[in-house]
Amino acid sequence: MLYDIIVIGKGLIGTATARHLSMTQQSIAIIGPDEPENMDQAVVFSSHYDSGRVQRMVGQTDAMTKLNVAAVNQYPVLAHLSGIPFHTGIGCLYVNPTGTDDFLMQAKRRAHQFGIETKFFASTDELRQSFPEFVFPDGAKGMFEPAPAGHISPPNLIMAQLNVFKKNGGTIFKDTVNGVTVNNRCIEITTYQGNIFQAKKVVIAAGAFSNFSKLLPRKLDLVLKSETVLLARLSSAEAERLSTLPSLLYEMDTPEVEGIYLTQPIRYPDGHHYLKMGCNLPHDIFFGNDLTAIQKWFRKGDSAAHIKEMREALQLIMPGMKVDDYVTKRCILPRTQKHKNPYIGKIDEQLFVTAGNGWSAMCSDGVGYVMAAFVVNGNFPAGFEAADYEPVFL
Ligand SMILES: Cc1cc2nc3c(=O)[nH]c(=O)nc-3n(C[C@H](O)[C@H](O)[C@H](O)COP(=O)(O)OP(=O)(O)OC[C@H]3O[C@@H](n4cnc5c(N)ncnc54)[C@H](O)[C@@H]3O)c2cc1C
Repeated sequence: MLYDIIVIGKGLIGTATARHLSMTQQSIAIIGPDEPENMDQAVVFSSHYDSGRVQRMVGQTDAMTKLNVAAVNQYPVLAHLSGIPFHTGIGCLYVNPTGTDDFLMQAKRRAHQFGIETKFFASTDELRQSFPEFVFPDGAKGMFEPAPAGHISPPNLIMAQLNVFKKNGGTIFKDTVNGVTVNNRCIEITTYQGNIFQAKKVVIAAGAFSNFSKLLPRKLDLVLKSETVLLARLSSAEAERLSTLPSLLYEMDTPEVEGIYLTQPIRYPDGHHYLKMGCNLPHDIFFGNDLTAIQKWFRKGDSAAHIKEMREALQLIMPGMKVDDYVTKRCILPRTQKHKNPYIGKIDEQLFVTAGNGWSAMCSDGVGYVMAAFVVNGNFPAGFEAADYEPVFL
């Protein structure tokens, strides 16, 4: 069968793009593997194997903010159509322990421009009064965004996108692609499973894995970094006590940890409640274009190497929390460099590409919306500038 459009990559952005495309009258398929049960057998992995991602609206740039707003505006519709809950509007707190920074200075203007509700905190005392669970040093300043900021569940968001995609007539394949060839008439896609698919247009949404498996004729400028997550296991009672804890983005910057993000205790698939914290570590791995090194990291990487430093950082922020156990998880982050926004663009009239940065779970539905409009109409929807999201190639 010759599809009108095929999306490669069943991650957060790929599924969002596929859902938006499926609202047109065209034949759409999406191809990509599920989360692997056996890491040793998987060729590619993803940035979304986890139950919590911070959601906020005020982004690092205006272009990110627009995508975040577009995404959250769609959440009620998507939750209603799919019947799958994926969003918790518990709020998001941003704090810089040393005072005002570039983000906070821009945030006031950005919040006003995009009509986003925010509350600013000028001192540690003010922060303490509103958020007694967190401890910040003297001189801290911050900003709180109420709901719909909070957190989202990546697996549930993907499930919701695919649920609606299927209801709209979309087709799902679980293959892993190992070649994309543009012919005169169509684009041919081959897979490791030995299947061949054909489409008039193709969108590549393979995240950190865009530069592998012969998906693209040119390599995208993406910095690929290992990401380690600390999961603090809590009793049900402790999780209940922290049930109104907002997400936190904390610009802690020490030689051991930098740029902390955390989400409130969430029930994970193993039935336990975990509070999740992530950050940059001095020994994070920068993979370059080495798929073997990434596979090694996902399969057997030593994510526990810095558990002590991460635990101590968390204990400093939340000294009153009773933790039963700590575990770590491995992940990968792609980052765009030039404009720092997700990529949304094309290689030619038939082949399109999108890839996220480190904060593209929260805006994934917005990216999908813009990408789908661009593929179908040939231009960006009103309010979005193509130059802000232009893919950069090496
Ligand atoms: C630990 C961690 C914490 C994060 N925290 C946040 C946060 O709090 N808030 C936030 O907004 N963002 C966060 N992010 C970033 C966010 O998860 C990513 O930006 C987001 O997942 C990007 O979506 P994507 O669709 O581009 O990539 P992915 O979600 O990684 O999806 C890419 C998909 O492509 C598929 N694929 C790859 N190669 C092929 C192939 N050859 N054939 C077929 N399919 C293929 C993969 O299987 C995968 O499913 C975090 C990331 C990590 C790692």
